[in-house]
Amino acid sequence: MLRIIAHGEVSQLHFSTWRSRAMGYSVSAFMTRNVLIDTGFPHVAGALRRWLGATRPAGVILTHAHEDHAGNAELLARLGTSIRCAPETLEALRVPKPIGWYRRVCWGSATPLRSAVRPFEDAALHLVPARGHSPDHHVVWDPERETVFGGDLFIGVKVRIAHPGEDIRGQLPALRSVIALGPRRYFDAHRGLLEDPVVQLRAKVAWMEEMIGEIERRADAGWDERAIRDAVLGPEDLTGWASRGDYARINFVRGVLGSGGTGRQGPEAVATAAVTKVT
Ligand SMILES: [Zn+2]
Repeated sequence: MLRIIAHGEVSQLHFSTWRSRAMGYSVSAFMTRNVLIDTGFPHVAGALRRWLGATRPAGVILTHAHEDHAGNAELLARLGTSIRCAPETLEALRVPKPIGWYRRVCWGSATPLRSAVRPFEDAALHLVPARGHSPDHHVVWDPERETVFGGDLFIGVKVRIAHPGEDIRGQLPALRSVIALGPRRYFDAHRGLLEDPVVQLRAKVAWMEEMIGEIERRADAGWDERAIRDAVLGPEDLTGWASRGDYARINFVRGVLGSGGTGRQGPEAVATAAVTKVT
């Protein structure tokens, strides 16, 4: 299902399916300056294709390679739409790592990017590195309109679940660099238009710093990871168990303590339902 929500000159393309809604998930792409930012996920390829038939963007910018953001990159490349993204994103799309069943059911597995990619530039839109959520994560910054398209940088203030290998500390400099831009408007891929974005981004930094401190303090005192998780973040919720650890609180603890390894390609960090519970 594709629902279009107008925000002045920005159109929000809100994608979901009955499966994703049942699991508490949806994701948005955005259209600004006749440029599409992200593509939705493989299970909504038909809806995206119908939209592309009526609206012909000059190009698409990808924030990162996760399947709910760049899951239709091959479709766009095959249709001849120009693509702009980081080299790491391109590499991850060409050789996608396997994803767990939860992500396959919710979003679908992306077709590897095989078609030739026509590069794309738009002087008004800047691709700004904001790594941490994934190694290739970027945001899109429109300085003239003081607008950020944040991908998965924010998601919520108190996001307790993470994917295996997620760089929790790395998100802090990314968040600070976006705060320093002073955005007037901020579009989040899972939350839509944020009210008072700088206030919310600062609140997220403060909360993450507090959690990191609490986790470190207990680790220094000899606590094991699960005891730290239960005390600081709370026990795993249904999503943590159902996803078999793909979207789990233990990954947040391991990400802070550097004990999680690099893991598989990171899944979407949180379900919108999970965010609703914790923010
Ligand atoms: Zn993501």
